[in-house]
Amino acid sequence: MLKLDLFDLERRQTLRVEGRVEVDDDLLEGLPFVYEEPFVVVLNATWAGSGELVVRGGVVGTVSQDCRRCLDRVERQVDVDITLLFAPSDLLEEDDTETYRLEMGVREIDLEPYVRDEVILAIPAFAECRVGCRGLCAGCGENLNETECMCSPGGMDPRWDALRALENK
Ligand SMILES: [Zn+2]
Ligand SMILES: [Zn+2]
Repeated sequence: MLKLDLFDLERRQTLRVEGRVEVDDDLLEGLPFVYEEPFVVVLNATWAGSGELVVRGGVVGTVSQDCRRCLDRVERQVDVDITLLFAPSDLLEEDDTETYRLEMGVREIDLEPYVRDEVILAIPAFAECRVGCRGLCAGCGENLNETECMCSPGGMDPRWDALRALENK
């Protein structure tokens, strides 16, 4: 939980929030990548003059994904800049989809779900292990980055040619 204490913030005008998003968080299920270690989060919250709350900072971590061609594990460094805007309901324009609603009388906000959303948005759904990954052979399933298989470019295994030749006799 990345707690932002709004009363504290009221007093100090600006507040630093630091924390981690843990690897085993339930809400991370079903994502096209896995966290290798907890994300480190550093944020600064400030009241803007207009009554809005601005939260700025960054998230650093490592995720891994399967290469979409050969299914090898690909590790990726993640360094996401984050800007979150909150506004009280009376300042919130109805068609404003960028700004989150700040409920009246709320004492604290858990920034973790917002941060998680930003991280998920920032990570591409697909990874490739290298430029021009050759992927897996559709015929035999070999990783073509590592070996040349016996299949012909058309996808048929030439070993069947001999059999077919026999059948046709
Ligand atoms: Zn690959
Ligand atoms: Zn093959």
